[in-house]
Parts: sequence; C-alpha cells; structure tokens
Amino acid sequence: MLILMDGEHTKANLAEVVARVEQLGFKAHVIPGANSTAVGVTGNPGPLDPRVFEVLPGVKQAIPVTKSYKLAGRDFQHGDSAVEIVPGLKVGAGRFVVMAGPCAVESREQTLRIARQVKAGGAHVLRGGAFKPRTSPYAFQGMGEEGLKILAEARAETGLPVVSEALDPESLALVYKYADVIQIGARNMQNFALLKEAGKLDKPVLLKRGLSATVDEWLQSAEYLLSEGNKRVILCERGIRTFSSHTRNTLDLNAVPVAQKLSHLPVLVDPSHGTGLRDKVAPLAKASAAVGAHGVIIEVHDRPAEALCDGPQAMPPAEFAALVEVLKKLGGVLGYTM
Ligand code: PEP
Ligand code: MN
Repeated sequence: MLILMDGEHTKANLAEVVARVEQLGFKAHVIPGANSTAVGVTGNPGPLDPRVFEVLPGVKQAIPVTKSYKLAGRDFQHGDSAVEIVPGLKVGAGRFVVMAGPCAVESREQTLRIARQVKAGGAHVLRGGAFKPRTSPYAFQGMGEEGLKILAEARAETGLPVVSEALDPESLALVYKYADVIQIGARNMQNFALLKEAGKLDKPVLLKRGLSATVDEWLQSAEYLLSEGNKRVILCERGIRTFSSHTRNTLDLNAVPVAQKLSHLPVLVDPSHGTGLRDKVAPLAKASAAVGAHGVIIEVHDRPAEALCDGPQAMPPAEFAALVEVLKKLGGVLGYTM
C-alpha cells in the first residue's frame, strides 16, 4: 500500500498515518518528495483496504500495491507456464492449440460426427458441453453424464482429449471423471466454491473470463484454483459485455497481452462466444493468433440450423478446416507451431 498525502497535510496528519499503520502491526516508510509526501506500507500479508487510510485527515489516496494474485502473477514466477493437457500436448510452450467441437453434446451421432470432422480439420482437443449454463431455464440444459460418456467415446475413437464444462460440485465430479480438461464458464468465473473444488483436482482447468469481469478479477479467480494446489490453469478470453450490439459480445483482444504481462498462465481465445456470429469467427481467430494468444476454442457444427445451442456462431467443418490451414501458415510468421 502506498499512501499519498495531500498538498495541505500537517506534520500531525503524517504522524497519525504512521501511527495507524504501526497500530495495525505493519511498517510505515515515510517517502518525502519535492511535490508530495507518501507513506509506504510493508509487512502486510495480503491486500489492505485503502479506505482505512483514505478516511484519515491529510490523505489524498491510498494505492494498493500488493497483488492479490501472487501465484497467478509474475512476481513469484517470471517465465511462462505451459499447461499439459495430456502427454505430448501442452498449451503454451510455443504451440498454438486449437480446441473445437459443438457447443453442446446433443446426441451420440451428432457428437461422433462432429468429432471426426474437427479431428480431420486439425483440432487438437474436442470441446462439447454436457452441462449447459443457459440463460433461460426452458432452453436445452445438456445431456449430463450421458453426454460425458459420448465425449469419452469420441475421444476413444478420435484420440482427441476432451474439454467440457462443470457448473457445480456435482457436475464437477462427473466432468473430472470423463473429461481431460475442466471448463469453468464465464457465468461461473466468480463461483468461488466451485473454483475451490476445481483447485483441489489434478486435471487442467480452462477458466473463462466472466461477462463483465476485469482482468484483475479474472486473475484473482485463477488464484483460487492455484492457491488450492491446481497449477494447471488456462485462461480463456471469450468476450465481454459492452455498449456495442453489433456482435453478441465484444471480444477483448486487448486482454490477451494484458493478462500475459500480468500472469505467466497461458491465454486462449474463444472467438465463437466472443462474436456470436459464424462469419466473424475466422477473422477473430486469426487476430487471436496475431495478438499472441496460445490457442483458440471454436464451436463447430455440421448442421447449425438444427443445433440445440449457439447455432448462429457455429462454424461449418469445412470452414473450420480452412481456418486451421491459415492458422498453420500464420505460425510461420508469428513463430508458433501447431
Ligand atoms: C461454452 O463454451 O459453451 C460456454 C457456455 O462458454 P461461456 O462460458 O464463455 O459463455
Ligand atoms: Mn456455446
């Protein structure tokens, strides 16, 4: 915490600030400056509430400097982390990883069909939701455990590892049992009880950014996972709510280099939910590679008009395969492999 004194503060004001810091059991370091005086606070084990100091007379502002994401941040780990999904496949480490598949598992035939198509198109990981967080309670909620069994069958046939979303402790236990990567969706980014449970598991977690979450809040959610012991965390930017209504969400590609500067964790981008429109997915996937993302997660459906969830943003398999070819070529310029 750095406490900035205002231009009119008195010696007594400064002494009171120092006394308050010491009374809390921390150290106060008075930093005199040409134009302003500040008091640095050290010895605090975690973040302090700036208001504790801002209410004191003569104080202009208290600025927290202790990061609340010690493990997700770069203070403790400078080098980038690479997250192993299965032996031989890491996110980070110079590889651009492509996850693809339907929004939801709708049937055995639909999932196996699309799994084969995304495998042929060059995907590294199969996605598919068995538990769907739907805005309307009347919308298709997912096939549950049966859906996870179908994904496991698709993995056995194609060899693609599987990522699937968990919504609560019950679905988390099931997703852990069948999937290779546990997805925590945007709506659950701040479901702290769920994060704590997922943090105790030994499978990687794909943590989507919340619909209205700042990068700082996103990293604090990652901290929940890391602080429970799960070091295999992959961040995923999936678009945020803004005033713009020309796309479903506003894909915040700024967040990729911002998160990468603050954190060592790999960052994926989801241009499907980020735009909500299939014709925007390829341009934003290419932009994701250019901005330095470690991969993308893309919704693919061969019969989007029949899709039970997110049909308008689903890419046809042929377009997906063409996109992967372009992403491979971009790797030659941008310096990643696929
Ligand atoms: C999904 O991946 O299907 C999904 C629901 O994503 P998000 O949590 O980003 O909305
Ligand atoms: Mn979806």
